[in-house]
Amino acid sequence: YQWQGSDPAAAPIIVMAHQDVVPVTPGTEKDWKYPPFAGTIADNAVWGRGTVDDKGSLVGLFEAIEALAVQGFKPKRSIYLVSGHDEEAGGSGAITAAAQLKAKGVKAIFTIDEGSIVLTDTPVINGPAILIGVGEKGYGTLKVTANAPGGHSSMPPSETGVETLAKAILDITGDPFPMEVRGPGASMIEVLAAKKGGATKMAVANQWLFGPILKRQFDGSPSTAAAFHTTIAPTMLEGSPKENVLPQSANALINYRIAPWNRSSDIMARAKAAVGDAKVDLAWVKPPREPSRISSSTSQGWKWIAAAARADAPEAVLSPMLVVGGTDSRSMEGVSEDVYRFMPMHFTLKESAMIHGTNEHMAVDSFKRMIDFYARLIATSAG
Ligand SMILES: [Zn+2]
Repeated sequence: YQWQGSDPAAAPIIVMAHQDVVPVTPGTEKDWKYPPFAGTIADNAVWGRGTVDDKGSLVGLFEAIEALAVQGFKPKRSIYLVSGHDEEAGGSGAITAAAQLKAKGVKAIFTIDEGSIVLTDTPVINGPAILIGVGEKGYGTLKVTANAPGGHSSMPPSETGVETLAKAILDITGDPFPMEVRGPGASMIEVLAAKKGGATKMAVANQWLFGPILKRQFDGSPSTAAAFHTTIAPTMLEGSPKENVLPQSANALINYRIAPWNRSSDIMARAKAAVGDAKVDLAWVKPPREPSRISSSTSQGWKWIAAAARADAPEAVLSPMLVVGGTDSRSMEGVSEDVYRFMPMHFTLKESAMIHGTNEHMAVDSFKRMIDFYARLIATSAG
């Protein structure tokens, strides 16, 4: 949807939120305090799948735009509202929308989508931080296949296909990508350390000396470690179809989330080197998605988003961050100068776990603050 701006020379803005939601894991429906698809408003909150990810933002954008229109707001820049229908399953909607915008010659000054939040108990500072996602990791799934002669399991060879496969997986995971304090994750650590001061600040400022200590700290927590290297996660295994049959082919899927400084070609090269001359084939299941570009944390778009967020959290630290999952916004790289991932929601680390989990809900007050945020952002950036 386009809200036409009055100045055709002014670069538009793109605001995004996806419509689809992830399913509720079968068998967990009864664990919900209120039914997951009823939209119950109770205990000062809206309950249900998607209230946070991402219908909250979508409805928030609708409400903000509606309120601005009623107040007689006339945008100078055009506002494109882009809402994908399959973000959780490939993002073809956003890809199509981006192609259409490109065909129209749109070059937005910034794009804002989901991806990060105001974290109220940010590690290191134990306080609130406005974390604006300036980039997201790439994604790829590698299929490792061990082909073997097969046969009856009563007469096994010295090594079955399953064993060849198992060794190859361990070779690959045994050679992890090293942790590197760089990119948006490093910027975030610097901002948090500067706020914290004292020994932490000194450790971050003197990474040549304290680097190993910092790395050990990050290594301890998977969620933090994910920002500092390409992760390797074997997720699926397949062998013989029957317990007494030797597999003719055994395969594993290994899911990678690619750090901004790596490319899928680095992963393939590393995996090949790790398995050496083992009798396995390596192939991407689908063409991998390279990491996104890193957007500016000094641009006008950044400043507008930061100011709109700060108005609602004046005491919070402001920091760029790396989004370790994927969002629809990556599709807008070709039609937008900068792409930011930020939802104006205030969560603790623990609360953020309800996204895609049980009892997803949003406080009515948070929802109102979110609408105000979007209205502020649109009024200041497009007005
Ligand atoms: Zn989402």
